[in-house]
Amino acid sequence: MTSEDFRSAAHAAAGLVADYLEGLADRPVWQPMAAADRQALLDLPLPETGTDLDGLLKTVAEQVLPAPMGNGNPRFFGWVNSAPQPAGVLATLVASAMNPSSAGGDHADVHLERAVVRWIAELVGFPHPAGGGLLTSGTSMATIVCLAAARNRAALRAGVDVRAEGLAALPPLVGYVTGETHSCVRKAAELLGLGSRHLRTVATDAEGRLDTAALEAAIAEDRAAGRLPFLVVASAGTVGTGAVDAFHPIADLAEREGLWMHVDGAYGAFGVLDPVIAHRYAGMDRADSLALDPHKWLGVPVDCGCALVRDTEGLRGTFSLVPSYLRDEAAGSLGWFSEYGTEQTRPFRSLKVWASVAHRGREGVAADIAHTTALARRLGELVEADPALELLAPVETSIVAFRYRPAGLDGEELDRINRELPAAVQLRGRVFVTGAVLGGHEMLRACLLNATTTEADVRLLVDEVHAAAAGLTGRPDTSGPA
Ligand SMILES: *Cc1c(COP(=O)(O)O)cnc(C)c1O
Repeated sequence: MTSEDFRSAAHAAAGLVADYLEGLADRPVWQPMAAADRQALLDLPLPETGTDLDGLLKTVAEQVLPAPMGNGNPRFFGWVNSAPQPAGVLATLVASAMNPSSAGGDHADVHLERAVVRWIAELVGFPHPAGGGLLTSGTSMATIVCLAAARNRAALRAGVDVRAEGLAALPPLVGYVTGETHSCVRKAAELLGLGSRHLRTVATDAEGRLDTAALEAAIAEDRAAGRLPFLVVASAGTVGTGAVDAFHPIADLAEREGLWMHVDGAYGAFGVLDPVIAHRYAGMDRADSLALDPHKWLGVPVDCGCALVRDTEGLRGTFSLVPSYLRDEAAGSLGWFSEYGTEQTRPFRSLKVWASVAHRGREGVAADIAHTTALARRLGELVEADPALELLAPVETSIVAFRYRPAGLDGEELDRINRELPAAVQLRGRVFVTGAVLGGHEMLRACLLNATTTEADVRLLVDEVHAAAAGLTGRPDTSGPA
């Protein structure tokens, strides 16, 4: 391959990508793949001989780009998957061309990661001591990083070096979550040997927020039984309804009881940038650690999570294998990122974060966030005004939890219809929404992350729910006049 071959194929690839992005809004949001197309991918034979770049692009154009997940489309409201920032898409190409390992050393990617981690902390108003965090594959990994630091601190306070001795030398460490806490916390607790049984579920109030009186009672009970409470996990935007915990009372209690306060802000932490809802986040900056996902509301192309911590030396003491007497000489006073987390060879994630934020500036990012929260509140109003729909939680951030409930539909049938509705809506191809279970009830859950989504798009979502429901129930379409 000559450099001319690469240059011309790169131009062709850029054209394909631009066409793809430009055409997204005009195609079905998602369609099931034709069985033959799916099988063709599954059965791709390992090629004996090579294919030139143009040949590879032909396969991409014919077999890959036509079958997207749908999350680039402004009418995609599923899960927590955003459209990619175009600036971040370009940065991905550059980052892979440089292909460093951002473990440490003196090259641009390492220093840029220090800067963008600080930017992320500044965007959400979290304290940022030098070295106070790193980029990860997502919040699942960021949570493992943060909870490992929490475990290490709790053990040290109990006089045990858990890195050397393991957990056997300690009484059971107990952490507190709610029924709305994301499953990645349980996964982290299991992997860290804490045992999911020692992750206690604390009651929530009517708005889905952690009930601090219940937390206090649970802590007392665990102490009386000889267990060691060490962690409370709060949410800056639950995945089910987007609820934000009341952080100050949790932080007060955590301080009094010596608990590590971790905040899961994977989806919702960036909501603090919207002045209309910023007050809900008061006290988030008091957490010991905050995990969040630039690859969600910020639109940084997947993957990119971030772990932020208050005590950088504590984090380094959890992961570093560099003897302390070598640290400064080895890599400058902050050392290597590989001393603060699980990965050794690390990708150049910071360039796509830098591009996705720098292209819009703080103002542009905040405007995008505010647009989506306003649209979510609008959708909440449409749902409330619709006699066949029921809003199941206040719209606190940009998630709208609701269900289809026309007069006369109840019991088992109500749950069955709502369980089947998301797939029925998806198959129609005009909007994409997913489902969840809240308080034992099947529901629909629309998550707004895309700043190009319009009010017409959310109105279409309501219409599509009615149309799909009519197909499932055999009742006439219950939507009102358009
Ligand atoms: C997405 C999400 C996670 C998991 O993050 P990944 O980036 O998928 O690993 C955790 N918590 C919440 C609230 C989320 O929305």
